[in-house]
Amino acid sequence: MNFAEIGLHPAILKALTDSGYSEPTAVQQQAIPAALAGRDLMVSSQTGSGKTAAFMLPALHLFASQQRPATARTNAPERRPGPARGHDRHRFQPAQPRMLVLTPTRELALQVTAATEKYGRQLHQVRAVAILGGMPYPKQMELLGRNPEILVATPGRLIDHMSSGKIDFSQLQILVLDEADRMLDMGFIEDIERIVAATPSARQTMLFSATLDGMVGDMAQRMTRSALRIQVDAASARHDHIEQRMHFVDDLAHKNRLLDHLLRDATIDQALVFTATKRDADTVSDRLNVAGLNAAALHGDMHQGARNRTLTAMRRGQLRILVATDVAARGIDVPTITHVFNYDLPKAAEDYVHRIGRTGRAGRSGLAISLVHHAEQFNVRKIERFTKQMIPVEVVAGHEPTRRAPSANPRPTSKPAWKSGEKRNFGQPAGQADSRFSKPSAPRRDGAARPSYHDSAKSGAGASTGRRSYGDR
Ligand code: AMP
Repeated sequence: MNFAEIGLHPAILKALTDSGYSEPTAVQQQAIPAALAGRDLMVSSQTGSGKTAAFMLPALHLFASQQRPATARTNAPERRPGPARGHDRHRFQPAQPRMLVLTPTRELALQVTAATEKYGRQLHQVRAVAILGGMPYPKQMELLGRNPEILVATPGRLIDHMSSGKIDFSQLQILVLDEADRMLDMGFIEDIERIVAATPSARQTMLFSATLDGMVGDMAQRMTRSALRIQVDAASARHDHIEQRMHFVDDLAHKNRLLDHLLRDATIDQALVFTATKRDADTVSDRLNVAGLNAAALHGDMHQGARNRTLTAMRRGQLRILVATDVAARGIDVPTITHVFNYDLPKAAEDYVHRIGRTGRAGRSGLAISLVHHAEQFNVRKIERFTKQMIPVEVVAGHEPTRRAPSANPRPTSKPAWKSGEKRNFGQPAGQADSRFSKPSAPRRDGAARPSYHDSAKSGAGASTGRRSYGDR
């Protein structure tokens, strides 16, 4: 089924053609017709699957085909911010959005807003604004004063505006909870409950999440009505188009030298390097710049303006390497990122999936490389169990680890099983034995003894010291 067969408004079809989208992704195929029919949705889909368009296209279609309700002040004069005179100062009319998209992070909110502008380019009457922390209040008052149809917001700042009477949800038709699992991880449950309670019960609710298990599933049940459950198990969800590798490192100095070496690979268009802490993001970025590589940091301690400038430079291709923490990198959608590096492994296996999903976007392929200290093998196993995929070990000539990795489970080196012809077993349930783990002929997990698969450029060796604190992300 193509977009025209789905029956989207011609102005939206034109914008999609201009964006180079020829056909809907798997999640779009299932979600758009149901959303157009007014159904609530509970969608389990990964980042990079095209989920933004899955909820935004039906909403834009609705707004394009429908007059704004008479009670909404579409013809109200634009209310300007700044010094109001006399009693007018206290008579700011609240914005009455028709759609609210809640996102866990500012970056994702900006991403969704940008996508909305792209898909709604031909619909001049539909405006979307982002309401997020770190942005000056007067600017946000000005944006709200335009009475936009669509608000894309992070929960904390939205609550601030709701508390001061700047937003009235009585006209709200559509509520989207994007990356709902992450919002819960970030402790937004009470804010979400409060926001949802302020919206009309007759609204349409669409919840998107990497998983619908546990708390997020319970929340989805509470907030939706007879929701259609959509589970997308497409190639993008398994990241089949992202090649994964890992390198063992002896210590931090070894890790730094190996990273420098790998980042000099000419096939890298743009790279995203993940660190565990904000301080490490700064330190690694500074070190790479000193080494002559074009890098910048992105983390939550930076002002929103600086974060936006860095992301814009990345999107425009003016920046080759972005060194970021998990929270800051959430929502980054730069299709030209060819490589993701885990300088530090993530704390949660879900974050690994989220991280590597920053490459291989929009149908491209990508490479995800993790630098792993021997003491972190437990984390690697956790990730492999979660993804049901082995991460092959590679060794770079001149950068071999001095320590041999313990070989509790034999693991392939260099070539992923699916490249060497060995049958993969992606679909098996968790806990079921994976034939690759028990194959007597499988190669040993022995980095040092392996041949090299890269050209070597001389750099150093060094030392990583296991886990760090994740407290200051
Ligand atoms: P998302 O999962 O919404 O973050 O989207 C991931 C990427 O896929 C973004 O770069 C979108 O622009 C792109 N995208 C979304 N839908 C399509 C489509 N139907 N065809 C091609 N690219 C798409």
